[in-house]
Amino acid sequence: MADSLTAAIIAVGSELLTPHKTDTNSLVISEVLNDLGIAVGFKSVVGDSRDELTAHLSHAMARHTIVILCGGLGPTDDDLTRDVVAELLRLPMDEDPGIVAAMQKRFAARGWKMPEVNRRQAQVPRGAAVLENPHGTAPGLWLETGHHQLALLPGPPREMKPMMDGAVRQRLAAVAGGVRLHRRLVRVAGKGESAVEEIVQPIYSQWVQRPPRIETTILAGLGQVELHLVTQSVDAAVANAALDRAVAQLADALGHDLVSIDGTVLEAVVGGLLRQRGWWVAFAESCTGGLATSRMTDIAGSSEYVERSIVAYSNRAKIELLDVPESLIREHGAVSEAVAAAMAAGIRRRAQVNAGIGITGIAGPGGGSERKPVGTVCIAVDAGESSVRTFTFPGGRDMVKHLAATWAIDMLRRWLIKSLP
Ligand code: AMP
Ligand code: MG
Repeated sequence: MADSLTAAIIAVGSELLTPHKTDTNSLVISEVLNDLGIAVGFKSVVGDSRDELTAHLSHAMARHTIVILCGGLGPTDDDLTRDVVAELLRLPMDEDPGIVAAMQKRFAARGWKMPEVNRRQAQVPRGAAVLENPHGTAPGLWLETGHHQLALLPGPPREMKPMMDGAVRQRLAAVAGGVRLHRRLVRVAGKGESAVEEIVQPIYSQWVQRPPRIETTILAGLGQVELHLVTQSVDAAVANAALDRAVAQLADALGHDLVSIDGTVLEAVVGGLLRQRGWWVAFAESCTGGLATSRMTDIAGSSEYVERSIVAYSNRAKIELLDVPESLIREHGAVSEAVAAAMAAGIRRRAQVNAGIGITGIAGPGGGSERKPVGTVCIAVDAGESSVRTFTFPGGRDMVKHLAATWAIDMLRRWLIKSLP
């Protein structure tokens, strides 16, 4: 049954167990597997040890039909993958004259003679298909037994990836029988992970009960939450219709906290809304040091709606560049709703734009007080009418700045959708 296809990935190499080298191959491998509708049950990283590799391979084969191994196909004594697989499957090995000839040719092209140790790489477990490696000496191997499909791939990413994308993908696609993974990414702002979970859990728990089953994963980010919806199907139209219905249910339940249903990032959503209205925005940033503007301008085409930004860090800058009355600062303090609102109004008036944003706060670690602890941030949106809020953000300096920028952009988004006709 194509629906029950699952895979295990084993990355082989002692260097991958040190802090100096990361296993990146498994990411490429799982991307191809997922794309073909094959879920990865587990992956492991194993040193160049016969015992460890044997144990992990047995475990993988006991639980999964597909096993992809990478690394350990080299010519030296510590390259054990080929031997361990042959031993476990009780397959004799034969020297493949085609591989020897290809390697000799590769060495000859550089004016070298092939070292005898390389003959190890020409050993092929009986019945395995040889996968050509145009980027190196170690060919890959594809093995099918009664219950399993195994791929043995070289370790170097530039050799592994073309093989995974090419010959292995083709063979896996035949096994998977046309099943594909279909996804949606829904972004949410303004609520924490558990608050979002409380709203969406009763909805998504229904989706796993009837086909096409939709699996939902919640990922919490800084000030935002992502909902990943995934379904497997041979029929793209059926999958997409089910996902459309699911996303519409989420949109209904989440209301204005819903940022996008197609993975579009918050900054781009706000940009789209501004463009739709023909609006311009300008920022007056204190504690965020320009971060909100920087993030808005990460989006290509933002020059069509971001007019300017002023980083008014000192009181003098707020007074000189944004016309914040000195008395207001004296009376309420630089971190206050009154000053945030005056910053937003000031930048809006000076830049002659539709919306002005003011951000002032205490990023820490110093500068907090009992009444205004570190993390206190006041954010104002002025678009004729003004809205202003005070937050107490958790975390260190980086996190406070990031959360403040996110909320400033999100407050603008909320203002825009509220005021759209
Ligand atoms: P091998 O096939 O075991 O001789 O691997 C050769 C080289 O490929 C290693 O020295 C690593 O630099 C690289 N490599 C092996 N496995 C991985 C992996 N899982 N992810 C990224 N690089 C790898
Ligand atoms: Mg190795």
